[in-house]
Amino acid sequence: MALIVQKYGGSSVSDIEKIKLVARKVIETKRKGHKLVVVVSAMGKTTDNLISLAKQITSNPPEKELDLLLSTGEIVSVALLCMAIEKYGEQAEGFPGYFAGIKTDSFHTKARIQKIEPTKIIIELEKDKIVVVAGFQGISYENSITTLGRGGSDLTAIALAGALKADICEIYTDVEGIFSADPNRVKNAKLIPVISYEELLEMASTGAKVMQSRAVEFAKKYKIPFIVKSTFKDGEGTMVKEIELKEGAVVSSVSIDENQAKISIFRVPDRPGIAGKIFTALGEAGINVDVIVQNVSRDNYADISFTVNINDMEKAKDIVEKVGEEIGAERIIVDHDICKVSIIGIGMMNHPGVAGKMFSCLAKSGINIEMISTSEIKISCVIRKKDGQIALTQLHKEFIEEMS
Ligand code: ASP
Ligand code: MG
Repeated sequence: MALIVQKYGGSSVSDIEKIKLVARKVIETKRKGHKLVVVVSAMGKTTDNLISLAKQITSNPPEKELDLLLSTGEIVSVALLCMAIEKYGEQAEGFPGYFAGIKTDSFHTKARIQKIEPTKIIIELEKDKIVVVAGFQGISYENSITTLGRGGSDLTAIALAGALKADICEIYTDVEGIFSADPNRVKNAKLIPVISYEELLEMASTGAKVMQSRAVEFAKKYKIPFIVKSTFKDGEGTMVKEIELKEGAVVSSVSIDENQAKISIFRVPDRPGIAGKIFTALGEAGINVDVIVQNVSRDNYADISFTVNINDMEKAKDIVEKVGEEIGAERIIVDHDICKVSIIGIGMMNHPGVAGKMFSCLAKSGINIEMISTSEIKISCVIRKKDGQIALTQLHKEFIEEMS
């Protein structure tokens, strides 16, 4: 007998038929003799719809009430799933986040879990019930309902698996697992059987739509392995866990981010403090800067370019124009015809030559590299947006298809 935590995302419970299917899956696992805690997200696009209701009242809804509102989405799923489980002949007990003992700080809409007191869950499991918990929510020490940031049901599941010392944590979704590239864009993309937390985090930061990053960070910190798999198709899915360097692939995935914009500041005085001024101003406005390049200085002037998410582009431009004027920059150019392609792999840490191979691969397709950034397990290149698809395909061919 094992203790299993399963999480079903919004697309797995988007209508009643799917909720019934999930109930049958849950019961099947239970009847194999396991104890089961099930975490659910809100049905389909419920959370987006609730946000839009609030925005019809005010463009900037108070966060405490927003959390109260958003928490209802997951509770609907809990109630319906419990009803379905009982209809099929098993006993279920449904918990909103606060009954499940999920204690958070009081940063509404992005609260952090401080502690989990799962006593009530354990009592119900002992009674041989299936416990169903609302994802994405907790309760603050001031006793108000909080939510854990978009996609936060992943975090609920992983944190509960940790607190309950579950034997297995399964994240069910509408894809078969984690792929070496987006299967909608690269037809030979393959399912990755095992991947490290670090690689998954880099994938999320380079534009791949995967899990909530906070949830993966939590899993990494507390060494909680989990499996990502499909609700609708049988398969092994992808196991996410700690991986020894020598077991890791040199490149495990290739990704593209087309939501980036490049801002260039020309002829800024090349003296200490200038970059600090620009990037402090951006930081204070809450803008995340990604790739940064400063060219070699000529006659004591330098050019600085950096990328931001396209949603922050206008705000970043305004700020840079203001600072640019103060520091006497010559001109500022904003360019959104760019994209960022990345290769990721934990094994690249002890394989020299990966960067050279990536750049040559792009060169063979006549693609010019405008900016480069690296981490220990990732290399990203900023290129023209029109070259993105071919770059993605070629990099996947070179690093994934031809290596296996
Ligand atoms: N329902 C929440 C959201 O849409 C949480 C989740 O799905 O994990 O962000
Ligand atoms: Mg979700």
